[in-house]
Amino acid sequence: MPSADTLRAAIRDVVDFPKPGIVFKDITPVLSDGALFRDAITLICDSAGGQKIDKVVGIDARGFIFAAAVADRLGAGFVPVRKKGKLPWKTRQKAYSLEYGESVVELHEDAVAPGESVLLVDDLLATGGTAGAALELLDQLGAKVVGVTFLIELAFLGGRKMLGDHKVVSILIFN
Ligand code: 5GP
Repeated sequence: MPSADTLRAAIRDVVDFPKPGIVFKDITPVLSDGALFRDAITLICDSAGGQKIDKVVGIDARGFIFAAAVADRLGAGFVPVRKKGKLPWKTRQKAYSLEYGESVVELHEDAVAPGESVLLVDDLLATGGTAGAALELLDQLGAKVVGVTFLIELAFLGGRKMLGDHKVVSILIFN
């Protein structure tokens, strides 16, 4: 059984990145260790609770790494939610607030068919703005979001409240 404690110990705190005052959770030590990466993928897959998943949706950019591996393991498709201007086909867009200013995420409008079961995956939940915007786009396409899973949740930032009444699972919670 994969140990969340071992994963937690591998997360590296990087002080003042990307700007002063921020303590960034660096997940690359999990990626570069084969056993830890596999454990992380197993725990994210387990969060689906055996439900049938048609599409695993990953958020730009670290979310892609986890979501694509989870999709492969679950026999599901992979769909990227990207920062504005990166997707080549017709998109739906959603703007959301950052600490200073705003950002926009996009989803191909044919990426998920109405009624398809979706697991949304990202590496980290902070304020919830990014995942909240991704959920809004999935809602516009008529997706059935059966779960939202993060490797890490910074619970002290309260991002869960941005995710409505979706089932949210975080493998590692930092208080
Ligand atoms: P939110 O929109 O919830 O405030 O921010 C979450 C997004 O920002 C995620 O896509 C995540 O990749 C990124 N992010 C914010 N802070 C961190 C951090 O400390 N570590 C990592 N790995 N990603 C972060």
